Amino acid sequence: MPKKNQPWFKYPSYRWQKQQAIVIGGGIAGCQIAWHLCEQGWKVTLLERHKALATEASGNAAGVISPKMTALPSIGEDFYRHAFEYTLDLINTLEKRGEIIEWDSSGVLQITHNKREEKRWYALQNRSLASNFIQLLDEQQTTKTAGISLPYKSSYFPKGAWVNPRSLTKALANHQNCTVKYQTQALELVNKDNMWQVLNHKQQAIAQSEVVIIANGKDLMGFQQTNFLAGMAVAGQTTLAEASISTKNLKTIIGHEGYLTPAVDRKVNSQVNTQHVFGATFEREVSSPKLNNKSDELNLTNLQRYLPNIAKTFVACESGHTAVRMTTPDRFPYVGALPDQAFYHKTYHDLHQGKQYKEYAEAEYQTGLFVLGGFGSRGLTTSAYCANLLSNLLNNKLQQSQHSEQSHIKYCHPARFIIKHLKRKQAHNKP
Ligand SMILES: Cc1cc2nc3c(=O)[nH]c(=O)nc-3n(C[C@H](O)[C@H](O)[C@H](O)COP(=O)(O)OP(=O)(O)OC[C@H]3O[C@@H](n4cnc5c(N)ncnc54)[C@H](O)[C@@H]3O)c2cc1C
Repeated sequence: MPKKNQPWFKYPSYRWQKQQAIVIGGGIAGCQIAWHLCEQGWKVTLLERHKALATEASGNAAGVISPKMTALPSIGEDFYRHAFEYTLDLINTLEKRGEIIEWDSSGVLQITHNKREEKRWYALQNRSLASNFIQLLDEQQTTKTAGISLPYKSSYFPKGAWVNPRSLTKALANHQNCTVKYQTQALELVNKDNMWQVLNHKQQAIAQSEVVIIANGKDLMGFQQTNFLAGMAVAGQTTLAEASISTKNLKTIIGHEGYLTPAVDRKVNSQVNTQHVFGATFEREVSSPKLNNKSDELNLTNLQRYLPNIAKTFVACESGHTAVRMTTPDRFPYVGALPDQAFYHKTYHDLHQGKQYKEYAEAEYQTGLFVLGGFGSRGLTTSAYCANLLSNLLNNKLQQSQHSEQSHIKYCHPARFIIKHLKRKQAHNKP
């Protein structure tokens, strides 16, 4: 648990010459931070290498917005709960402003499909959690809520939702202060006179600004300034199935090992298909996945195992979307300023000797460079909240924010694994 006085996680106060930033990456993370800064009066240039937003990890037809519970209260649960509530509020705000977002707050039923989930279900019963957040349902109540036979105990999140991330990114980038440059790939970052120049493959400057936010998904470690970050690429694929007469009755999202959405209308060319989205697979060490039948079979096998009555009605299945999620070793994303690595190693090299925090200088950073990434398989749920934390940091508003937010941003600190490594020397040096 990060303690209050940890100089290595301390951020300075910022005084920018202009409220102007470049964001690299037009997935959900990049669009979220662009919107949050634009809302604070910043002018943002968003660079995306493809012709459209949300074509990589954020390109699913539908993803789930849902919290993640632990048996006992934990920082992880608290982080997900804040993120969950924040994202739903944000979508509602955007809708009230007239943005069109394909989503539905249909509720999520997390079923007790294994012993671990069942144990958690009993533990959650002993906690006084608000019923508008979570309800612990028995088998009959689960079936009634789902609208189809579902003989499991479950944790029901009535506000849980699915969203089409592409529609959300479009709404976010549609801010008057945001300019999107498509088919623009950032390859290198060079600092010149306190300004960051973004260079393309011809070494030409395509944009420059005092502030750059790197939110480029699976390629997070692709810059010299970010290559120290620890991360794992995990490919995933979703599958689509035509809704049958009986599965059209499914009213909620079902969570098991993966997820299954209710029937969602998807427009393909001029035709509307009513389909369920389900999956997703997890495959390590695949950096450029292609849609494949094997992954669809894996998704179907999982469904047959946990939801056999539904799986047997799925006559026509087709591949949905495949992409790589960038995951961190502790599953918290990276949110914050990029550390000056040389400073960290020089200043905190003897952390393992157990000296008092007071004896250390406060952290130094690569001025003007920030990161928002490593969202793993939960970025649709967490990126909005994290973008808000980052925007508050850039606008010196973190100090006035709630204690929980200050704590969450420490857990997401981009230097946390450098510090962990420097502290660990202790264990290695002990006789
Ligand atoms: C199959 C699957 C199912 C999922 N289901 C869920 C779910 O149900 N719920 C949930 O919460 N999350 C889900 N996720 C996770 C979620 O989708 C990701 O965490 C999230 O999309 C990550 O967003 P991102 O913006 O960091 O990355 P991306 O969406 O990959 O965006 C990065 C963008 O940066 C661009 N880019 C990269 N490098 C450069 C560069 N050098 N210059 C310019 N542009 C660049 C890319 O083209 C891309 O558009 C799922 C992910 C997958 C793959």
